[in-house]
Amino acid sequence: MQYLIYAIILVLLFMLLQAIWPVLLTLAIGYGIYRFIRYRMKEKYFQSPEFLDHKAKIDSTINDYNEIANYVQSIPNDNQFIPDNAKSKYSDLATFENTSRQDYKRDKNEKHLNSNNVYSASLQVVRNASEQPIKYLCKYFDIPAKDESLNQLEEIDTNISRMENTVNNLKEREQEIQNGFNPPKFILKYYKKELLDKTGMQVPEINIDYATYTFEYVSAGGNSSQKSTITFDSRTVEAVEEYISDKIKYKKSAKAQRSLMTNSLRNSIKERDNYTCQMCGASIAQQSLLLLEVDHIMPVAKGGLTTPDNLQTLCWKCNRSKSDKIIA
Ligand SMILES: [Zn+2]
Repeated sequence: MQYLIYAIILVLLFMLLQAIWPVLLTLAIGYGIYRFIRYRMKEKYFQSPEFLDHKAKIDSTINDYNEIANYVQSIPNDNQFIPDNAKSKYSDLATFENTSRQDYKRDKNEKHLNSNNVYSASLQVVRNASEQPIKYLCKYFDIPAKDESLNQLEEIDTNISRMENTVNNLKEREQEIQNGFNPPKFILKYYKKELLDKTGMQVPEINIDYATYTFEYVSAGGNSSQKSTITFDSRTVEAVEEYISDKIKYKKSAKAQRSLMTNSLRNSIKERDNYTCQMCGASIAQQSLLLLEVDHIMPVAKGGLTTPDNLQTLCWKCNRSKSDKIIA
């Protein structure tokens, strides 16, 4: 009985196909012609004087973009807290393998640990972790209330916000370059990547590597599972800094009387300095897309404090050449 139904359906389909195949063929040919015309129009646009002249005119803008694209790849992207006890006495007995898939190529990633941290916990802990994420994060993933933790967190936060700041700057530049060309709409819709390639822009494939921390409960039979996940983005890192700092202050450590580097402090320093590089004098007023960073005048590693009088606004180039000098 069932086979009979299948056979009838098959015959009906066959008849339908016979009836409509000329329509299908016409549609296919029509689409082919459309794609061909679109392709020809695109080729014509990329060879037009309009496109080529503008491209030549903004040569230095493209160079600036590529320089920053190059710079963004040098910013450390290992944004995971590494506890002191991560390397214990017997750690050489285990082989560590980083099997995470990289979405882009980097030459510097020796320090990479796997950025997914999973803690198997009881249901109670999983629930508590979703209510008090910072407290549970510090407790179960070993972020002790010590100055060393604060230093490391501050470094992570600095790298994340530097990366976010730079990636945003690149996006704004990309948008401005694209607007400058003002290409026909179909180019933007279908050939945007080719447009950016043809300008000579080297658009980096950057993913900010936020570590994640997961509390997971799996029932004995494996039927039920619940988890709470915390993403180590700048909001979380700053909250952890504040939590640890409060704990240290409670212990009345003198060194803990430091203020924390936060995004809002960075923004207020830039505003105080009038969005002007304190070394070369470049400013947002002349270059609206100038990439500015906030720098410790006396580096933290040398005992410099995070206080407004030890902070200054620098453009990324001056900041980079300053840190190169310190390393040398
Ligand atoms: Zn500068």
